[in-house]
Amino acid sequence: MTPSPDFRRYLVDIDSASLPQQSTDCLVIGAGVAGLRAAIEAAGKCSVTVLTKGTVEDSNTWHAQGGIASVQNKDDSFESHIEDTLRTGCGLCRRDTVELVVRQAPQLVGQLFKWGAGFDLTHGKIATTLEGGHSHPRIAHAHGDETGKIIAQTLIAKAREQRNIKIIENFFTIDLLTTDGSCLGVIGWEKDKGLRIVRAANTILATGGAGQLYRETTNPSCATADGLAIACRAGAVLCDLEFVQFHPTTLYIAGASRALITETLRGEGAVLLDAKGRAFMKDYNPAAELASRDVVSRAILEQMLKTKSTHVYLDIRHFDKQKFAKRFPVISELCESFDIDISKDLIPVRPSAHYMVGGVKTDLGAKTGIENLYVCGEVASTGLHGANRLGSNSLLEGLVFGRIAGRAASESNTADRGEPAIRYQIPHSDRSRLDATDVKNSLRALMWRNAGITRKAQPLKEAQEIISFWQRYVMDKAFDSPQGWELQNMLTVCQLIAQSALARKESRGVHFRNDYPVIDDEHFKRHTEIKRE
Ligand SMILES: Cc1cc2nc3c(=O)[nH]c(=O)nc-3n(C[C@H](O)[C@H](O)[C@H](O)COP(=O)(O)OP(=O)(O)OC[C@H]3O[C@@H](n4cnc5c(N)ncnc54)[C@H](O)[C@@H]3O)c2cc1C
Repeated sequence: MTPSPDFRRYLVDIDSASLPQQSTDCLVIGAGVAGLRAAIEAAGKCSVTVLTKGTVEDSNTWHAQGGIASVQNKDDSFESHIEDTLRTGCGLCRRDTVELVVRQAPQLVGQLFKWGAGFDLTHGKIATTLEGGHSHPRIAHAHGDETGKIIAQTLIAKAREQRNIKIIENFFTIDLLTTDGSCLGVIGWEKDKGLRIVRAANTILATGGAGQLYRETTNPSCATADGLAIACRAGAVLCDLEFVQFHPTTLYIAGASRALITETLRGEGAVLLDAKGRAFMKDYNPAAELASRDVVSRAILEQMLKTKSTHVYLDIRHFDKQKFAKRFPVISELCESFDIDISKDLIPVRPSAHYMVGGVKTDLGAKTGIENLYVCGEVASTGLHGANRLGSNSLLEGLVFGRIAGRAASESNTADRGEPAIRYQIPHSDRSRLDATDVKNSLRALMWRNAGITRKAQPLKEAQEIISFWQRYVMDKAFDSPQGWELQNMLTVCQLIAQSALARKESRGVHFRNDYPVIDDEHFKRHTEIKRE
């Protein structure tokens, strides 16, 4: 498939002769688990610059709660973790990727521990818990439900110790610069400084997720799918964008942000109740609360419809309040802040967009079809998740492929390409200007309604038409701030998600079509690929 013809190579005018420039051996875009792990690895051999559009704390990684998966116990095995990952991926995982990630997991989690990540311990060993889809307890967690923050802090500290890593915050990457199928670095915008070019022998894209494309999401505001749009404009292959994972349980209080209520709670006995107070999960799946995320999300949605309610409830009243506060400090504080007494009250929850399963297609070496460009973390499609992601496998994927990308980028013998001039001019357009905030809000609502947890041909077609209309008035403009570029990226990726979802006429993993409710191996046991012509 190809994106719509309205497609422009760059989002801004470029004249490399007149823009400030700097250079580095290895350029990493993104400061989440994948980008930081890549930077630390590459710093063993070369100079590294890390760019991040906000501060180093602004990432999905920082917000991860439940934990990171790895085989830690004698009664668990690599085969079991591999099998669980393959089963969840519904026939679309790449077995070699799954094996690679699962087998490297204990070593890389152990390394994080040695670097100071304070994983919770039991009898002096890393403690593990169970999560939906895993057949053994293998989820390591830190400070209860602050796993992501602890991992991020550990990697930030480690990166800051390295003299040859430079971290630039508030630097918005607008586009990858390419000539002749090779990546030369980026054009971006640094707060208070404006447009500039960073040239690099090798570039690693690690820009994370896309949750902000949906009205309801667990993702922080930085997850606007920039990396997917940037890679697509540069000519990389995007794979399986129809697979967007929705998390079943986010706090639902009108006006409050959609804070995630980790599924570890369900692993530890929490029960879902409908508006009438009835436990309903067994009606939908024998695994009940421990079924995979897509099953639980759809069940909640259906039960909300049946009971004409905006949400369901999570019952965690069986937990000891003091122990709960220690084990789940973030959720405990969150509930308290809304006057929810977890020993008496039920927690109102509903699903929301959580994780982009699809991404930029990469091989086992984190390479893309573009020379000198590597991709890792949530923005990549490595083949680990297939059609659905097993919980707690994504921090792990970021660690494993961050290391691979960092090593490959630092070891690649890049020929001296000089500093080729780059010029690009956006044609003038007389079309009127739409209100960017208004379009963004409407786009997110449209995606939630028409390309959300369940899909159908007509709403998907309608989404494509409406997005095309907005694109006509937004994609022709040259913006001068991140809000404008983010909106352009969001429109691009939303259009590609709707296009991919329409093309997959079956239900598999997290992609559920009401008009094609069963899996169709004969026609669709394959990947959906999109590339600019
Ligand atoms: C609430 C929540 C809970 C989660 N819980 C878990 C869990 O328990 N276990 C698990 O395995 N996974 C979990 N996940 C998923 C996991 O956190 C992410 O998949 C993972 O952290 C992604 O890491 P990353 O490095 O790829 O991206 P991120 O951590 O999102 O980092 C992306 C980086 O790129 C930067 N960036 C983006 N665009 C640009 C741009 N244009 N220019 C410059 N910089 C840019 C961002 O600022 C950020 O620094 C959770 C996610 C959320 C939101």
